[in-house]
Amino acid sequence: MTADGHGHRGAPVGFDLDMTLIDSRRVILASFAALSDATGVPIDPAAVDRRLGIKLEDELGFWFPAEQVPAAVRVYREHYLRLAGPLTSALPGAREALDAVKAAGARAVVITAKHEIPARLSLDLAGLVPDDLAADAYGPEKAAVLIALGAAVYVGDTPADMAAAAQAGAHAIGVTTGSFTERDLRAAGAQTVLESLTGFPALYTTFTL
Ligand SMILES: [Mg+2]
Repeated sequence: MTADGHGHRGAPVGFDLDMTLIDSRRVILASFAALSDATGVPIDPAAVDRRLGIKLEDELGFWFPAEQVPAAVRVYREHYLRLAGPLTSALPGAREALDAVKAAGARAVVITAKHEIPARLSLDLAGLVPDDLAADAYGPEKAAVLIALGAAVYVGDTPADMAAAAQAGAHAIGVTTGSFTERDLRAAGAQTVLESLTGFPALYTTFTL
């Protein structure tokens, strides 16, 4: 990839969290299974997996009546915080990607649909240290954060991430470490697609300062 005028170093770089920087698939699916056991409400893990990256409240809305969602959120989060330790890891290249941004003198900011407490716990468990964290942001809310930051780049694993980057005028970098293919991500506006973040530092050096 060559710099195309969108991506440039110096400006903040946004990173999605789940399945972009961290592998949280096992803990997410285990937490939904525990919630299903606790409530007796069937939850199809394959359906959850296909939508990984959306807000918890929105996913729970597929399985619970609206009035039961707040209670389900609480039960899910209890299980998530209990299960996260053994089941959360950094994805390949995540640490190096954050380091590449910092080494260029730019801020690496995590922008995630996750709630702040599990997001901070996940970063700690994975040994990742971004410059800042914007939690509870999904879809257009991510675009608003990117615009407020003046971010040059957003890296994510979902079509919604790519659409948010495009909406914010940031270079949209997709990674196929989540539930979506290169084709899915390009259709949503990805300008560059990487198989993992291990390719990020080399790509980032092609961006103009
Ligand atoms: Mg994600």
